[in-house]
Formats: sequence, structure tokens, C-alpha cells
Amino acid sequence: MTTVTEPEVDTAETVKARYEEAYRNAHLAETASRKRDAYNLSVSKLGGCTRRGAYILAGTPTTDDPEPEPGITANLGTWIHAGLLPRMAVEVDGRAEWKMTLRAAGLDIDGTTDLAAVEVREGEVYDAKTVDGLDTVRRYGAYGDHVINTLAYATMLVQAGYRISWVVIQYIDRGSGDTETFAFRVDTAAMIRVVDRVAELVRHSADPSRAPRTSAAGRDGRRWRMKGPSDDFSPCNSCEWLKECWGEDAVPGVKGAQRNLIRNDAGAAAAAAAYNAASITKSLATDEAAFWHTPLSRMVDESGPFIAGRFRVSKTKSGALNVKPISAE
Ligand code: SF4
Repeated sequence: MTTVTEPEVDTAETVKARYEEAYRNAHLAETASRKRDAYNLSVSKLGGCTRRGAYILAGTPTTDDPEPEPGITANLGTWIHAGLLPRMAVEVDGRAEWKMTLRAAGLDIDGTTDLAAVEVREGEVYDAKTVDGLDTVRRYGAYGDHVINTLAYATMLVQAGYRISWVVIQYIDRGSGDTETFAFRVDTAAMIRVVDRVAELVRHSADPSRAPRTSAAGRDGRRWRMKGPSDDFSPCNSCEWLKECWGEDAVPGVKGAQRNLIRNDAGAAAAAAAYNAASITKSLATDEAAFWHTPLSRMVDESGPFIAGRFRVSKTKSGALNVKPISAE
């Protein structure tokens, strides 16, 4: 007697699971297709972690081979770029995804500009950055590493003989599509900052384990500090030198490698002092904000949003006071 096997009947749960898995695998495949050589110092890495740049230039053996992760937000950013840049190029009479080489401090560093308009107006370089929410850039301005990277694109175009007078960085909120756009003039001093940044990485490559765990300085001189592996976003999670940098027990995606910084009583005393100083600063800042909140809030209630110096003062839909810098320069 022949046994007939009934075909499996799908349920809503199995169909959903199939597409959830397909979604995750599609992202994994996309992320894997963009994996680059750990030792490739491209222009896009110039502004990031100084110590990582120093490890790359020193050729320090890698200690980690980060597990592929879906990299969903990065992929969404890449796909937004793929659809957006050719259209933007038409709008501004520019050229999208232009590959070039930056020459600085004895190195040749490859990079791809998102968009450059070199034969119209004064010459402009544009970089799109996809982010989750615009609050941080509205409060602090463009990130220092993004500024250096975009200036580096401008510099390599100038080195190739084109005139570039403006750099534009546009942050795009992946959720809403809202934008915050920064534009600033490029001058010789700005391009010297790029060369200085490459020279800084070269200098630290002589002893990468002592290089600072910070990004390049922004236009206000502020540097972004790497916080080690974290369950939140952290470049350390995908760094090929994670254990070299934070110790053998550092694990991508798990907070706590910072414990390695406290090795003895002196380290604990320094950490306690730093924590105490930060707490006092935070408490003073909270008091100061509360002090000014009431009069500013009343002014908006009485006469609506207003411009005060270089800030726009308004209220959100939920009624919270919103004081943000006017970003266009
Ligand atoms: S683990 Fe983090 S701090 Fe260390 S080199 Fe890598 S990115 Fe920089």
C-alpha cells in the first residue's frame, strides 16, 4: 500500500515566520556583500575612532572577526542613498557616487563622494547621513567625524583640480524622512584640518594602544568618545580590534568592557572623581535649564514661536519647550 503524505498546510504563523526569516536573511546577505577589508582606511573611516585608524595604519593583527549582523539600519541607509542620490544629482546638476583618491601625509586614501556639483555655481560637495531622529544634530550640530569625512571629499576634489566652495551635510530621519541640513564654506584652513587628521592617525600608528578612543574633532573642537561594546549603537561592536583595545573579556553588544579601565585603587579613585564631577555638572545644568524654562515657555504661550539670537524658541505638539540652534550657516 502506498502512503500518501499530505502537503503541509500553512498557517498565518508559518507564513509570517517565512517572511520574517526572509527579511532577516536578506539583510544579512546585503551586509555580508558590503563587508570590507579591515585594513582598508577609506575616507569614510577618517573621522571615526582614532585608535581604530591607528590600528589599521600600524597593521596591528586583528583580534575579532565580528559576527555578521543584519545591519538593518545601515542597509536602509544604503538603499535610501541608492534611490536618492541619482535624483538629487539631477536636481543640483551634479554627479553622484564619484570615486576619487585623497592624498595626505604620504598616504593615498580612496573615497566615494555621495554627490558633487563642480561645474555649476561655486562648487559643492553633498553628503547624506541617515539617522534615527534629528534631535542630537539639531542640538549639537553635525557630528565631528561626518564633518571631517565630508571635508575630505571636498579636499580630494580640489586636489583633482575642481573648485569646491561649499560642503553640505544633510541628515535624513529614516522614520519620517525629515531633514536637517548644514552648509558651510570650505577654505584652506578646513582642508588643512583634513591633512592634520590623516597626520594625527599616522602619528598614533607608532603606538596604537595609546591612541585616544575618540573621533576626530568637530568644528567646535568636541570629540566623540567611544564607549566600548554596548547593547546600544557603538562602533566598538563591529571593530576588528575589540579585544586588543578593551581586553579579552570584551564581547560585542555587551556593556561592561569599561570595567577593564579600573585595574587598581588609583583607577577606581579616578573613576569616582570623574563620576562625581559629571554628576555636579549635570545637576547644575538641570537647575539652569529649569530656571530659564518658565520665562521662555511663557513668551511662546503669549506670542508664539520666536527667534532669539541664533536659536528658534517654540513648543512641540505635546507642549514641551523646544529651543534649537538655527543650523544654516
Ligand atoms: S574597540 Fe572601539 S575604541 Fe577600540 S579601536 Fe575599536 S572602535 Fe576604537
